[in-house]
Amino acid sequence: MIDVASLRSDLLDWYDARARTLPWRTPPGSTERPDPYRVWLSEVMLQQTTVPHATPYFLSFTERWPTVQALAAVEDGDLMGAWAGLGYYARARNLLTCARAVADDHGGVFPDTEVGLLSLSGVGAYTAAAVAAIAFDRPANVVDGNVERVMARLFAVETPMPGAKPDLRRLAGALVTGHRPGDWAQALMDLGATVCRPRSPVCGACPVARHCEGLATGRPERFPVKATKAARPRRTGTTWVIRDAARRVALVRRPTNGLLGGMLGLPTSDWGEGGVDAPAPVTGDWRDVGSIDHVFTHFSLTLTVRVSETAGGDFIWMAADDAARTLPTVFTKALRRGLSALE
Ligand code: SF4
Repeated sequence: MIDVASLRSDLLDWYDARARTLPWRTPPGSTERPDPYRVWLSEVMLQQTTVPHATPYFLSFTERWPTVQALAAVEDGDLMGAWAGLGYYARARNLLTCARAVADDHGGVFPDTEVGLLSLSGVGAYTAAAVAAIAFDRPANVVDGNVERVMARLFAVETPMPGAKPDLRRLAGALVTGHRPGDWAQALMDLGATVCRPRSPVCGACPVARHCEGLATGRPERFPVKATKAARPRRTGTTWVIRDAARRVALVRRPTNGLLGGMLGLPTSDWGEGGVDAPAPVTGDWRDVGSIDHVFTHFSLTLTVRVSETAGGDFIWMAADDAARTLPTVFTKALRRGLSALE
């Protein structure tokens, strides 16, 4: 049976001494609370990527849009462009929805409770809990994949994922108190990111090792126990790289709803499991130049790349270098493949 008070005190002491310095944080023990806008922005970014990857995006976003009002006023397309490389574009759309809700309905001030935050359009349960805890020091149960992993190991939970999730949430909730809840949430995050790492936990440097039931089994890295994975389906399709005499490439704006919605992309067929053959979007001297592979969360995609040098058609034309910086990764791969064949 884990001694909760002693576990909490060990982890908070470690956090006081070893907290990561991050641009959206204030140091542990500081009387100054962090800016809720910065906390919220960082949490949305960090749900899908790591701190080293997200940090340059965070710095660039906060330089371009230093307040939630400034972010709320941005054009959708500009935001999507700035988000490229952070993945999961639905989150970017939710980001904008939430920014506009705060700016328009709350005078630019974030609600300071978990319930109030959850009432904002575009804010999910995790983000509401994280912002309530970190920005407002509310005793919220902040549970992401890192915290699930730490709980599964600390308590040696044998139920396979994802069935264990409710138990892991309950176990995490039992550790939250009204004492320093913001620091507690961030201490768990730091532990999961730097010590209790997914594949190789550094148990020798762990501040809560003496409490850890997973470590006591001798194989802490076995937790959380994984369910057997279903194979990811494979889809295929065709994409067209069209370059004109001014060396610009043809792009299209993708429909708002659906995968990569609202983003710029290359013209493409639908992506289907049985293979999709579709007519080229414009008449041209088409050449097949191979294919590229890309893995999305729910399927793998193989895209045949066809190229042509032509003009005309109902496209958005953009310099190839700018397009390579703006497009989502799947299209950047296809664009590079196509342009290298046109050189
Ligand atoms: Fe994770 Fe090891 Fe610490 Fe247990 S002792 S919480 S497995 S790092």
